[in-house]
Amino acid sequence: MKKQVVVIGLGRFGSSLATSLYNIGHDVLAIDTNEDRVQSMMGRVTFPVTGNATNETVLRELGITDYDVAVIAIGSDIVASIMTSVLLKTMGIPYIVSRARDEIHGNTLERLGVDKIIHAEEEMGMRLAHSLFNPNVQEYLELAPSFGLSRLKVPPRFDNLTLNELGLSNARDKYGLAVLALRRGKDITLNPDPEDRLRTGDVLVLAGRDELLEKLES
Ligand code: ATP
Repeated sequence: MKKQVVVIGLGRFGSSLATSLYNIGHDVLAIDTNEDRVQSMMGRVTFPVTGNATNETVLRELGITDYDVAVIAIGSDIVASIMTSVLLKTMGIPYIVSRARDEIHGNTLERLGVDKIIHAEEEMGMRLAHSLFNPNVQEYLELAPSFGLSRLKVPPRFDNLTLNELGLSNARDKYGLAVLALRRGKDITLNPDPEDRLRTGDVLVLAGRDELLEKLES
């Protein structure tokens, strides 16, 4: 369903988020104090605007209170990030996401009642660590410390083998991993049959302890 989203701060993070949301089909208002950055968003979001998000009058004039979601993508200016979060919270935006620069910033945003806090650089660093030495790991998502979800491209050495033969039939099998889904082209099979034969290029979604994921992937 089409949502009304406001993205504040159009650095690399905010501009890429705003453009992706717009391409998915949402209405995106993108705000930045920097006019050049706003200009570069022409045609890439619904409504690019130059303005200071710490100014309540500016936000009200832009009709911010009608928006479903606000993302504060200001990274380094912690004061501006916190002031904007407080303003949006008091204006009653239903769902607020803020980017945090470090733990103290994140904790402060949490106490202000921000709904979701993004540690963009940390999360990217962690994901990269899980895929750096294995080009077949397309994505990693931490569920708890030392436990995560991995999206693995099936390598040629697994070609024509079944999940059973590979020791991936269930979480008690050789690798101790659960195979949650198998993607082949556009088709997705949830909880695939252990007798399904894999093909190079299929994508598996696996859940398990990091060390066990690492063991399978390497
Ligand atoms: P990134 O890491 O995403 O590339 P950056 O390093 O360019 O970002 P940040 O300090 O994270 O810079 O700020 C992101 C954007 O937020 C900048 O374009 C900046 O102009 C904008 N910004 C900062 N304060 C405000 C504010 N009060 N209102 C609107 N935009 C702001």
